[in-house]
Amino acid sequence: MQTDPRQRIVIVGGGTAGWIAAATLARYLPVQRYAITLIESDEIGIIGVGEATIPQIRLLNAALGIDEYAFMRATHATYKLGIEFVGWGNSQRRYMHAFGAVGRPTGQVPFHNYWLRGQTLGETAPLDAYAPNAQAGWANRFGKPDSELPYAFHFDASRYAGFLRTIAEPRGVARIEGRIVAVHREGEAGDVQSVQLADGQTIAGDLFIDCSGFRGLLIEGALATGYDDWTHWLPCDRALAVPCANAPALTPYTRSTAHEAGWQWRIPLQHRVGNGHVYCSAHVSDEAAAATLLANLDGAPLADPRPIRFTTGRRRKFWNRNVVALGLAAGFLEPLESTSIHMVQSAIERLIRYLPKGRPEAADCAAYNAETVFEWERVRDFIILHYHANTRDEPFWRQCAAMTVPDSLAEKLALFAANGRITRFNEELFAEVGWLQVLVGQGIEPRGYHPLADSQSPQEVRELLGLLRQVIARQVAALPDHAAFIAQHCPSGTC
Ligand SMILES: Cc1cc2nc3c(=O)[nH]c(=O)nc-3n(C[C@H](O)[C@H](O)[C@H](O)COP(=O)(O)OP(=O)(O)OC[C@H]3O[C@@H](n4cnc5c(N)ncnc54)[C@H](O)[C@@H]3O)c2cc1C
Repeated sequence: MQTDPRQRIVIVGGGTAGWIAAATLARYLPVQRYAITLIESDEIGIIGVGEATIPQIRLLNAALGIDEYAFMRATHATYKLGIEFVGWGNSQRRYMHAFGAVGRPTGQVPFHNYWLRGQTLGETAPLDAYAPNAQAGWANRFGKPDSELPYAFHFDASRYAGFLRTIAEPRGVARIEGRIVAVHREGEAGDVQSVQLADGQTIAGDLFIDCSGFRGLLIEGALATGYDDWTHWLPCDRALAVPCANAPALTPYTRSTAHEAGWQWRIPLQHRVGNGHVYCSAHVSDEAAAATLLANLDGAPLADPRPIRFTTGRRRKFWNRNVVALGLAAGFLEPLESTSIHMVQSAIERLIRYLPKGRPEAADCAAYNAETVFEWERVRDFIILHYHANTRDEPFWRQCAAMTVPDSLAEKLALFAANGRITRFNEELFAEVGWLQVLVGQGIEPRGYHPLADSQSPQEVRELLGLLRQVIARQVAALPDHAAFIAQHCPSGTC
């Protein structure tokens, strides 16, 4: 018999997703009315990758009252100003998808129209010459609060969940260590009622949040929700992850380097560099993928490469009956734009908006699912763009260039190819300026630009572009060195 009158929320899994859910729910739901329990298994462990983020994580930190420097010390974090793409588009290209502005608001049309016009006037500076974050990144500089550069973090994934736990538990989250061996439902096909641990304990709940990782213990294991496979658009299906010793310069950006049939991430932390090779097993063997990864490290490997397998796609329903799936239990999109942790954060915000009173309403689940599908599909399109817009010569890349992309992406590509226009629909995650940098970076050259960019004289356009480059150069030169900034404010090992 239930003696506690509170609504019982049971979080299954204590990886990044589980502890973000626990810390956020504990922050917003009154403990008098909600009992939050998190179950995790040390025996199974967590995925232990997922170290690069996007600036929205600072909203999570602010909501949870996290002191930034304490968080950075505890997770050995560094700052991140964007992602450098090397060899994407073609094997010679190198560009930055930097956070924040490119250029500045000018007249009635977005800045890049003046940049495009400048190209027709013989201006040769690349788009990222007008992105303060890109310039600061390449100079290995970082500073705040005066610089106003938008930023995110790189952190040690194995420490992050533990850090969030220190926030969630004091706010009332009950943690249970144990391996779930059975899931019980109401009747044959009803809601999930409880989970059973290997030691015989039964944990009952009203709402279950499945954060059990790729296995999707409740959403798939118990409810057989189904999965939409996106491998035909994003054919990479394996990764090898390996940490290595630090390089001399502490770069404030993630690097993604394209290889023969995939790409390699490089995530600089204070005490090591996280690396991984995401690849397509139909085009490259595991041995060759490992050799490529190990041949492209900054320093000595600190472990053997760890294999991870995945199927890109999403659950048919993210919320099914009284189970909501978050993190890897919800689906998988490769970490090319560091979006997964953010999608946990936004899903939990959405769940709070649709929080059920008692048994979930079908209308709430439907609205939650529709919003989540929209978010996932738009991020998926953005990632496909990186693969599709390429002129590389290897069979894998030719296959990506030849594929038929989703209509939603095809429309964006057509719009940009004509006159450099970019439209952001509803609340899709990546803003115009993000799409712009990747579209241009991958080598797509629009046929025209907005006609109003012709309303200034050639001289005025040249002066505008030159002035902006000067302002950014001055701004960057005034910033401290990234490593020196961290050493001064938040060095790890000093908590
Ligand atoms: C190769 C790779 C690189 C990535 N890089 C990035 C990145 O740079 N940026 C980013 O934002 N995201 C990245 N991600 C995604 C990110 O790692 C995940 O979104 C994030 O770590 C959340 O994982 P999780 O908590 O869902 O799963 P996990 O970390 O796998 O946690 C699952 C939890 O469930 C528990 N569990 C499972 N089964 C049971 C059971 N039977 N009983 C009890 N407990 C159980 C486990 O013990 C564990 O606590 C990456 C993912 C991969 C695969």
